[in-house]
Amino acid sequence: MLMNDPGIDRELALLSEERDLLMKWSHEDLARIISDVGFSCVLCGKCCTSRFNGHVFLLENEAARLLADSSESLVPAPYFELYNGDDSFYVSGYALRVHDDGTCVYLHDNRCRIYENRFSICRIYPYMLHREPDARKRLVFRQVSGLDTHGEYHHEIAGEEAVAIARETIAYEYAWLTQMIEFYTATRELFLRENKRHVRREYDKKMREFRDGTVIQVWVWHQGAFRPYRMRREDYLGFNWP
Ligand code: SF4
Repeated sequence: MLMNDPGIDRELALLSEERDLLMKWSHEDLARIISDVGFSCVLCGKCCTSRFNGHVFLLENEAARLLADSSESLVPAPYFELYNGDDSFYVSGYALRVHDDGTCVYLHDNRCRIYENRFSICRIYPYMLHREPDARKRLVFRQVSGLDTHGEYHHEIAGEEAVAIARETIAYEYAWLTQMIEFYTATRELFLRENKRHVRREYDKKMREFRDGTVIQVWVWHQGAFRPYRMRREDYLGFNWP
């Protein structure tokens, strides 16, 4: 008998719960936190490097824009979410490519070359509204990324501006969660149909082979379908992983 993958079911339940809780946040409550933090950018360029921030995940409409105009600027997002235990990894979307030293392909002399058209996550940074485990492993909402490790704090942010940032932050998180939920729903159906299952041990084994130079098959979720890619270790040199 075919059965749903319980790991995917668990992930879907967590994502749906997070999206429900996100919608309970008021723009005003997050705006108050943003005003209290009073972050001010000092143009250090840190946040545009994989060393500091992992990777820049693109929402679907942003990825579509790049796929049409500049597909060499993106890659299937590290880190792949699932492995089917056989021959394929699955990932929920794309990320910006980085140079071998980990800097974003759009960073030049510590300045963003596309600042006016930068991506949603770059616009809201360092604000976020995302559930992560605290020291006691309880899932709690975090509001600021890299707090006290870059920039300056306690600058004045006008009320209206803080509310606008809060709106954009909540909208980004909602779009990200929706993209993740759609991805896991689609892989659950696919794995059920193909009688596959994500097994962490198999995932790790295949990743070791990838790090040793094996080319891998990666399917990227984009606009309601999976797109196939053949990826090499060299495609991810500037990322901390793999
Ligand atoms: S697109 Fe611009 S703001 Fe975003 S990470 Fe790259 S250089 Fe930084």
